[in-house]
Amino acid sequence: MHSDTATKARVLADLPVSDAVLDLIAGRVELVPWDSATDRIDAIYTYGHPTVDDAMLARWPGLKVVSNFGVGVDHIDVKAATQRGIPVGNTPGILDGATADLAFSLMLAAGRRLVEGDRYARGPDFLRFDPSFMLGREIHGATIGIFGMGRIGRQVAKRARGFDMTVLYHNRTKSDEAEIALGARYATRDELLANSDYIVLTVPLTAETRGMIGRKELAMMKPTATLVNVARGAVVDAMALTEALAAKRLHAAALDVTDPEPLPRDHPLLKLNNIIITPHLGSATVETRRKMAEMSVVNLFAGLEGQPLPYRVM
Ligand code: NAP
Repeated sequence: MHSDTATKARVLADLPVSDAVLDLIAGRVELVPWDSATDRIDAIYTYGHPTVDDAMLARWPGLKVVSNFGVGVDHIDVKAATQRGIPVGNTPGILDGATADLAFSLMLAAGRRLVEGDRYARGPDFLRFDPSFMLGREIHGATIGIFGMGRIGRQVAKRARGFDMTVLYHNRTKSDEAEIALGARYATRDELLANSDYIVLTVPLTAETRGMIGRKELAMMKPTATLVNVARGAVVDAMALTEALAAKRLHAAALDVTDPEPLPRDHPLLKLNNIIITPHLGSATVETRRKMAEMSVVNLFAGLEGQPLPYRVM
């Protein structure tokens, strides 16, 4: 092992990375803090979601790889990296179960008002049981609309079947395989919005999906519907959602992701009762985060050694 830092690869990383990642790196590279200007960087390791744009890629001609801890790469200009011959790695496939579990938890919690109920049960006003109080919406037997029937969307659909839900989905491409395997039915975007009791967003953030759920789309949803976002915050227009929830034009929303993230502490969404917000916990289990650490570090070293990345964004 090299002890001389001058000979080690220099990896720009948005520190602090977790102990799991540090264990795997085992001192084999020098981690350079994100904002430290330096003339030599051999790789970029993105742990949170800092922006990696073309101007940044242009700064270090010797850059060999960008390795992302996570599957979503909307914060990285993949096209620019590809044009510069820099491979971008991510961690697809191993976080689908954990993220779908969280989507389902949010859906159950928002539908049945769990967080509101917890707050009430701890507070001074809960002095006797009231059967007419805090009624939620049923999940079993309801219709779920999955926007983005990809890896995570399919896992959500599997769970929905266990709750006897009718499963609608929307993608740009219809998937016969998903329909047969998951008993899901294809819907146009508008059909999905109008007919679902639970709308779960599992699309990547792209130019097409940015702001995809705005005022018009929220108005198309049933007033009894719940919106769950485990994709990226910017897929939803936060101000339009605030208005719809404040006016009780929706039953509830549950967001694992927001734009910006975190929301400013005085954001009006944070003042509403009919919303649950989690701090981007989709893949946050010990087991999944360990696998993400392994994949992202394998990608990092493959790139540094000039080898093909095992998990490369195309
Ligand atoms: P994936 O397998 O690529 O699935 C994405 C799905 O979205 C595909 O079925 C795709 O189908 C559909 N889609 C893409 N663009 C669309 C559009 N314009 N309109 C309608 N459908 C569209 O991705 P994944 O691994 O499931 O991950 C999805 C996203 O979840 C990631 O990009 C990431 O941002 C987010 N994520 C969040 C967390 C979290 O912690 N909350 C964790 C993991 C991932 P078509 O190509 O046929 O349209």
